[in-house]
Amino acid sequence: MDYVGRQLRLSTQLAEKRLPAMLITHLPNVRYLCGFTGSAAILAVAVAGKRPRLALFTDGRYTEQARLEVQGAKVVIARGGALREAAGWLARNAEVNAKVGFEADHFSFSAYESLRKLASRLKWQPTSQLVERLRAVKEPAEIAQIRAAIDLASQVYDSIVADIRPGILETAIAAELEFVCRRMGAERMSFETIVASGTRSALPHGIASTQPIAANGFVIIDFGVVLGGYCSDMTRTVFVGQPNRRAERIYQAVLNAQLAGIKAVTAGLATTKVDYAARKVLEKAGLGEYFTHSTGHGVGIEIHELPGLRRATKTTKPPQPERLEAGMVVTIEPGVYIPGYGGVRIEDMVLVTDTGCEVLTPNSKELIVL
Ligand code: ZN
Ligand code: ZN
Repeated sequence: MDYVGRQLRLSTQLAEKRLPAMLITHLPNVRYLCGFTGSAAILAVAVAGKRPRLALFTDGRYTEQARLEVQGAKVVIARGGALREAAGWLARNAEVNAKVGFEADHFSFSAYESLRKLASRLKWQPTSQLVERLRAVKEPAEIAQIRAAIDLASQVYDSIVADIRPGILETAIAAELEFVCRRMGAERMSFETIVASGTRSALPHGIASTQPIAANGFVIIDFGVVLGGYCSDMTRTVFVGQPNRRAERIYQAVLNAQLAGIKAVTAGLATTKVDYAARKVLEKAGLGEYFTHSTGHGVGIEIHELPGLRRATKTTKPPQPERLEAGMVVTIEPGVYIPGYGGVRIEDMVLVTDTGCEVLTPNSKELIVL
């Protein structure tokens, strides 16, 4: 992973924003910038000239781990508290009254109050999604890691899908899926596994429950693994029993919408246009009102990253970043959820390229009837 390159890109961003220093408190951003994977750390960045200077503040539990992992930053075991020592370091490394950015989306109000007391000679400036924007475009090594996570999850899905049958608890399906993922090397699941059957499949976020798989209806399985720090995310919907015309029509409409979304993806396109491409298909099929979420999201160190592939509305600001770039990894996951009936979602991860995209999720999207 190119930590030094990332640090330089951040310092360019800070220079553009006229911020000579910044405090990074969101752990995925800390990891992205210097490689530290522990659960407690603050990264301080001061830009002098072109070269950024970085210091990572953590505690005694992480002395050895920080020494092994951290690149391009000085490691400080902060006995007086990470925030206190980071603020002190910034006060020494930035000029009096210098503007220092902090991550407003990941900083509690009480931490902000402490910070103002700890370093009153600095001007604390809220920032939003500065490092997240850098993270949206993946390096080749990150893409390789994401591919590995996707391949692991894809193999596990194909190996367990035939075990879904009426009467088995949703949690039992989730347990088997997760057990095999872990046995094959997954560090953890990317998020709580969704197994939603029968009328529960109308819940877009139906985390596996103790409900038995219904005798007739859709089952949505949405899950992912973390491998080497990077997430995967996939959804398939199968049918248990015998699908009627209505069920087949709904499945086909969602699949057509998903394919239209994939076909639209290309570097330079507005993210809202990807959403529109998928949404239009469902609207034409008379199912638009049942597509109640956005078409997709970036995936990387976190399960939900930039860019968001959302609908353009008059009342909200356009999603940021507004356009796709080559190297972004996003999901395409339209769905239809009919209350009291059930739902269908199909989700792949794709890599944005200059000429279109590469679908990374290899699993078949033909309707599997069990
Ligand atoms: Zn998903
Ligand atoms: Zn997703």
